[in-house]
Amino acid sequence: MYDNDNRAAIITSSEKTMINKAAKNPNKEHHFEFFGPHGPALLVFVLPAVCYALIWGCNKDSCLQLWPDLKLPTIDNNIQYYSQDALITYLAWFFGLALLHVVVPGQRANGVLLPDGKRLVYKLNAFRLFVLVYGAALYFGFYTRQLDLGWLYDQFAPLLTAAIIFSTALSLYLYSSSFLKGLLLSSHGNTGYPAYDFWMGRELNPRLLGGRFDLKEFCELYPGMIGWALINLGMAHKQLAVHGSISNSMMLVNAFQLYYIVDALWCERAILTTMDITTDGFGFMLAFGDLAWVPFTFTSAARYLVDHPQNLSPAGLVLVLAVKALGYYIFRGANSQKDMFRSNPNDPRVAHLRTLKTERGTSLIVSGWWGTARHINYFGDWIMGVAWCMPAGLAGLSAVVPYFYCIYFASLLIHRERRDEYACRLKYGKDWDKYCALVRYRIVPYIY
Ligand code: NDP
Repeated sequence: MYDNDNRAAIITSSEKTMINKAAKNPNKEHHFEFFGPHGPALLVFVLPAVCYALIWGCNKDSCLQLWPDLKLPTIDNNIQYYSQDALITYLAWFFGLALLHVVVPGQRANGVLLPDGKRLVYKLNAFRLFVLVYGAALYFGFYTRQLDLGWLYDQFAPLLTAAIIFSTALSLYLYSSSFLKGLLLSSHGNTGYPAYDFWMGRELNPRLLGGRFDLKEFCELYPGMIGWALINLGMAHKQLAVHGSISNSMMLVNAFQLYYIVDALWCERAILTTMDITTDGFGFMLAFGDLAWVPFTFTSAARYLVDHPQNLSPAGLVLVLAVKALGYYIFRGANSQKDMFRSNPNDPRVAHLRTLKTERGTSLIVSGWWGTARHINYFGDWIMGVAWCMPAGLAGLSAVVPYFYCIYFASLLIHRERRDEYACRLKYGKDWDKYCALVRYRIVPYIY
C-alpha cells in the first residue's frame, strides 16, 4: 500500500539527489554507458585481469580450449609478473618516444573547433617515428643481430605489468589535474560520479610543455600502436631463435597488423576528427586502452605462434587471404561509398543511390552497401579481424587465445554500433526510425 506522505518524501529525496547532481554537473543529463555510473569501478579491475588471463590461458604446454571438449590450461607457476628491467625499459620507451615526438620535425594540423570556440594545433610525426624505431629494430634485430627482440616475449608479463602501472598512474594524474580551474572538460566525463569520470576522463585535451605536447593524441597513436608493431616483431624474432625459421602464419599475422598500424600512423591527421579526440576526455579508458590493452592483447595471435608454430598449407594461405580480401572489399566499399556521398552526393559513383531526405538537412543512403545493414562497414572490419586470427588458429581451431582479437572486436563493434545508433537517434529523431524501417539489420544482413 502506498502512503501518500511517504511517497512525497521519496520524490523529494530523489529530486534532491537530482538537484545535487545537476549542481555538480553542468550538463545536467547523462547517458551512462559501460554498465552505468558505477560500472567503471569494476572495469578498471576486470580489463587488466583479462590481459593476464590471456597469458594464463595459453602457454607452451597447453591452451584453453572450448570446443569440441572444454580443456583448461595448466597455469605455468613460473610466470614472472614483475621485473625492474621491464619497468625501466617501459619508462624509457614512453619518455624516449615522447622526447622524439618533441624534437623530430613534424607537420602541424588544426584540430576541430572546440566548445570554447578555440582550435588546438597538433604536431604530427607518428609515421616518421615509426620508420625510425621500426627500421632500427629490423636493422639491429634481424640484420646485425645486436638486439635480442625475443626479450619482448621473455618479458611479456612484466612489460604488461609495467604498462598497467604506468597507465594507472597517468590516469590518476589526469583525474586530479583536471580539477584545476579554467580547463575545458568533456561532457561525457564530467558527471560528478568519481569512478565514471576517472574512467571516461574529465579533461578533454590535457597538454604539457606550455600546451605544446598533447598527451591524448600522443598516447592514442605513438607508444601503443608502435609498441604493438614491435611486440609482433619480437614474437617473430623469438620464433626464429627457437625454431630456426619464421613460419608463414607468423609472417601473415605480422603483415596484416603492420598494414593496419602503418595506415593509422600515415593518416595521423584523420584521428583529429574521431570521437576519441573531439568528444571523449582523457581518462583510464583511453590511457589503459592505448598503453596496455592494444599492445598486449592484440599481439595474442603472434605470441601464440611462438609456442605453437605452424606453416599454413597453400589451401590455408588462400583461405586466409580470401577472408581478408572479402573483409577489405566490404569495409572499403562501404566506407568509401559513404565518404564520397558525404563529400559530393552528385559524384557519378554514388549519384544512383536511393536516399532518405531528413529534416536535419542531410540525407541517409538506403541502397548500395548502406541498404544491406546500418553498419555494414563494421561487418567488413570484423571479417578482416577474423583473417588476423586465422593464421594462428587455423590448425587448432579450438584454441581460444589466438582468436581473442576477433572475439573482443565483435563486442567492441556491437557496443559502438549501439553508441552510434543512440547518437543518430538524437541527430535524426523520427527520420532515424524511418531509416531503421527501411534498413532493418544493424551489422550483419539477415542475421543481426
Ligand atoms: P561510421 O563510419 O559507420 O559512421 C557513422 C556515421 O555515419 C553516423 O553517425 C552518420 O553520421 C553516418 N551515417 C550512418 N548511416 C548512414 C547512411 N545510411 N548514409 C549516410 N550516412 C550515414 O562509424 P565509425 O566512425 O564508428 O567507424 C568508422 C570506421 O572505423 C568503421 O569502418 C569501423 O569499422 C572502424 N573502427 C575501427 C575500430 C578499431 O578499433 N579497429 C574502432 C572503431 C571503428 P552523419 O549522418 O552525421 O554523417
